[in-house]
Amino acid sequence: MSARILDGTAVAARLRTRVAEEVAELAALGVQPRLEVLLVGDDPASRVYVGAKAKACQEVGIRSATRALPAGTPAKELADVIDALNADDDVDGILLQLPLPGHLDSRGFLDRIDPGKDVDGFHPTNVGLLHQGRPRFVPCTPAGIVALLEDAGVPLEGARAVVVGRSEIVGKPMAALLLARHATVTICHSRTRDLPAVCREADVLVAAIGRPAMVTAAFVRPGAVVVDVGVNRVEDAALVERVYPGDEGRRQQLTRRGYTLVGDVDFTAVRQVAGAITPVPGGVGPLTIAGLLANTVRAARQRRGL
Ligand code: NDP
Repeated sequence: MSARILDGTAVAARLRTRVAEEVAELAALGVQPRLEVLLVGDDPASRVYVGAKAKACQEVGIRSATRALPAGTPAKELADVIDALNADDDVDGILLQLPLPGHLDSRGFLDRIDPGKDVDGFHPTNVGLLHQGRPRFVPCTPAGIVALLEDAGVPLEGARAVVVGRSEIVGKPMAALLLARHATVTICHSRTRDLPAVCREADVLVAAIGRPAMVTAAFVRPGAVVVDVGVNRVEDAALVERVYPGDEGRRQQLTRRGYTLVGDVDFTAVRQVAGAITPVPGGVGPLTIAGLLANTVRAARQRRGL
């Protein structure tokens, strides 16, 4: 058996079209949503993500600006920038790109963002609303995953769902969203005993771990739906060959760029067992950006009572 590929790029394109329509509706009312992105330091992956977000905003008609601050920015200066954006009535969404340099406590800065402009959905008010089942801004990656599962017609009500990873960004909100859709949810982490056995219980298995190809076929019940959130830069040619045997494109990428992106799932092996699976890239990633666009439009509407 070879699993159905869940095409995140295609679903994200449809979501983006819907956002563009909403932006056009708002334009007719004289409103053009505006997103401000804060990038502190020079993490290369963050720079790529921020660039992709800015481009996506432009494509749907959302105004966006990226404010790049040096890695050594003092905490007080970053706090002042956030306060100014909170106070600026023309700003609808504020996104603080993570990770921050080590001397800056990300929790404190995320808490500082106006919850009405918190398009990442990381402010405690928005986290609380999500867990109470009355979501306002839902973190973009898990929201995108639910959109993908719904688009694919994956039944969630009554399903056994296992989420590996308990981060605030992916694991916990993912579990909350699956629970809200009446799945029976288990959250696993680094101290879970016999992880493969717990994962084999899943009808829907979400891997958000950050360890390349950790989820092998032994973790997957035949026919299960496997969502691979992981984005890992892998330079090890032997590992790439194991996960993508004979994949000439990957081999060339490795030579050209020095790395290729591998998910948390051992793709080729798991594909033989699963019923459906998301690829990396082209699975969850594009949906994350679509979720950000949708949240920015939502913020623009809500702030104006529309
Ligand atoms: P974190 O590092 O914050 O969390 C990782 C989680 O995995 C933790 O809960 C940790 O457990 C758990 N974990 C680590 N090792 C093991 C193990 N051996 N067995 C079981 N559980 C383990 O990562 P994020 O949630 O931020 O991201 C996860 C992955 O998803 C990363 O690869 C990241 O790049 C990717 N990502 C992709 C996005 C996309 O748009 N495609 C968006 C966001 C993230 P514990 O809590 O016990 O330490």
